[in-house]
Amino acid sequence: MEFKTPRYLKEYECVCGEKWNDVWDCECNDHCPECNKEIEPQSSQVISVMYCPECGNHDNDGHNSEHDPCVCCGSETEWKIFNGSHEAYDLFAEKNFPKDRK
Ligand SMILES: [Zn+2]
Ligand SMILES: [Zn+2]
Repeated sequence: MEFKTPRYLKEYECVCGEKWNDVWDCECNDHCPECNKEIEPQSSQVISVMYCPECGNHDNDGHNSEHDPCVCCGSETEWKIFNGSHEAYDLFAEKNFPKDRK
């Protein structure tokens, strides 16, 4: 599964007792499947990370254009998507983008 922007896993709990999860590209509200009330997510976490394939710099604000130059190395390459949490990305980057690489 590949995403074009960072994705959030969100957990909701409605006042009527209904609970559900959703995955979307923003931390937006959702409607309860039972009573249709608009609910804010209780928690959300990033499950994908955008990164520069040149230097491994990553940016998770989710507002970055995929075609912006990298703020780290200035490369005008397309950001790539890593499907996983920040923690998983750190391990991935350690292997694939050794710190001494510019
Ligand atoms: Zn409800
Ligand atoms: Zn870079």
